[in-house]
Amino acid sequence: MDRDYITRNKTRPVKVGKLTIGGGNPVWVQSMTQTRTKDIDATVKQIDELEKVGCEIIRVTAMDIESAKTLGEIKKQINIPLVVDIHFQYLIALEAIKQGVDKVRINPGNIGSKDKVQAVVKACKEKNIPIRIGINMGSLEKDLFFQYGKFGIARVMIESAIRYIKILEDLKFFDIVVSLKGSDTMITRETHLMFAKRYHYPLHVGITEAGPSLAGIVKSAVGIGSILAEGIGDTIRVSTTSDPLEQVKIAWEILKSLKLRQKGVEIISCPTCGRTEIDLIGLAKKVEKILANVDAPIKVAVMGCVVNGPGEASFADIGICGGKNQAVIFKKGKVVKVIQEKDALPIFIEEIRKVLIEKGYSDKIKNIKIKIL
Ligand code: SF4
Repeated sequence: MDRDYITRNKTRPVKVGKLTIGGGNPVWVQSMTQTRTKDIDATVKQIDELEKVGCEIIRVTAMDIESAKTLGEIKKQINIPLVVDIHFQYLIALEAIKQGVDKVRINPGNIGSKDKVQAVVKACKEKNIPIRIGINMGSLEKDLFFQYGKFGIARVMIESAIRYIKILEDLKFFDIVVSLKGSDTMITRETHLMFAKRYHYPLHVGITEAGPSLAGIVKSAVGIGSILAEGIGDTIRVSTTSDPLEQVKIAWEILKSLKLRQKGVEIISCPTCGRTEIDLIGLAKKVEKILANVDAPIKVAVMGCVVNGPGEASFADIGICGGKNQAVIFKKGKVVKVIQEKDALPIFIEEIRKVLIEKGYSDKIKNIKIKIL
């Protein structure tokens, strides 16, 4: 599809530790710790947990020099790139850079005199690390808001980004990542489209303050998904009011549903209807839990009836569907086994093991959580 804006394949590649953001690289999943950064053990523990569920870049906040001084030790103990979040204080930024962080999130318009900005930029250049400029709909610049008004929020955010980018470009600094986050999905989308018409800097995409539980998940999926679907966005972060592990899992589901990244088993299950012959919702939940840690690109279907199940899920590598007091196992739409409903789950899991072996993923079998059976 022809688009008149710069898509992720053409953004400027920017190194963040061992990863490269932009330039057609994968859309990386980012998250942020909820611990006090100066509590090194708690912070490292949370980063390790986040990495296990798929976090690829981690951001921590450094609110004071004491926190910034812990970053070297934190970085030593983790495996993924470390980003630091700085507000206003350029000396904290300098300490964080000295400690070896992989990226700094700071707004050059917020740290005071030109000398201070120059000092931060010089330090980033020396360490060859990028700066993320973060524009947030919740803290707009007053003069711009006055100029464009409440119906011109996207324009205010863009103009703000332009100001900050110009400060860096004037200092011949171009390893820039930009975020343009808002809690309104459509304004955030509009802002990203406007930005990508003008700049080739990679974009870190998120819907900020997305809210709790179901509403937060839907808002994040619609907002982030609608931007990614345009070909825009190089990293993502989900900001629901929830456990950060959940945020990372949601981020992965967004990427998987757009087929941008692959992770884990894809479960296909029907919504159930009057034809359903088994406890499909219970069965699907169990299968999902049992396979949650199996990182292999197979499709597993859990369907309610034999009339439509095998056909509707014919693209699944393996599936199960319900019949009268029995269940049917099928592969690529073809029935391979008819079993008693009471034995359905263990036999189905055994068949999934066989599929993993056939497809060369024997090493993933150990991650099947059989204890749930
Ligand atoms: S697969 Fe069968 S039970 Fe499930 S929704 Fe379709 S017709 Fe209904």
